[in-house]
Amino acid sequence: MPLPDSDLEARRTKALLVHERLCAQYGAPFPFFSTKDPLSELISALLSHRTRNQDSHRAYQQLVARFPTWEQVRDAPTEEVQAAISSCTWPEQKAPRIQAVLREISARCGGPCDLAFLAEKTVPEARAWLETIPGVGPKTSAATLLFSSLRLPAMPVDSHHHRVAQRLNLIGPKVGTEAAHALLEALLPPDWSAQQVYDHHEALMFHGQKCCYFHSPACGRCVVLDQCPFGQARLSGAPLPVLAYSK
Ligand code: SF4
Repeated sequence: MPLPDSDLEARRTKALLVHERLCAQYGAPFPFFSTKDPLSELISALLSHRTRNQDSHRAYQQLVARFPTWEQVRDAPTEEVQAAISSCTWPEQKAPRIQAVLREISARCGGPCDLAFLAEKTVPEARAWLETIPGVGPKTSAATLLFSSLRLPAMPVDSHHHRVAQRLNLIGPKVGTEAAHALLEALLPPDWSAQQVYDHHEALMFHGQKCCYFHSPACGRCVVLDQCPFGQARLSGAPLPVLAYSK
């Protein structure tokens, strides 16, 4: 259930306070980890879905070693693409999906596969363009725009980020990961740079990895405990709110 609009300003204030504390805790600004062009980043993001980083990285490396261009991936026998990405989860689903995405981009662009033109669009326009491709959701579109060489301020929400946001009551208890993207982005100042958006995402993700664990979060040493109804309930023995995050 969404939170009432009357809470919006309070949640914006909380989001900024959480941002400042977690950025200080984990050492922002964080260096960007990728310099891929946007199409390569999009394919990398599709491979990474529910896959450990090292496995999706290996699948990506094997794919680009086997097929030097995205047009070759698009036009290859699907079994060969599937074999090249066998180190990630569900290669039998991801191979045809990646090829379908590449075909759709080629058809829309009428030429070689390339997403550099997205640099000319606003973030909402670029997101809308990407998210109307079947198989591309808000996390993939945001990762493509933010992590790639485009460096556009679109915010991805991964499972750690989502869990922390839900426990802090930045979003409602039943809001899923996809719907969380627009709601969490609306809490950030609209003029934030790509670096600030990236720092926000990374800081919440690091917090989920290093303190706000799925099982047994370390609330006793958490720097945002005073902002967190879930952690306060947990430490006081009160009933815990039922939240809809997944592992
Ligand atoms: S207080 Fe506990 S549940 Fe809340 S953000 Fe911190 S670690 Fe997570």
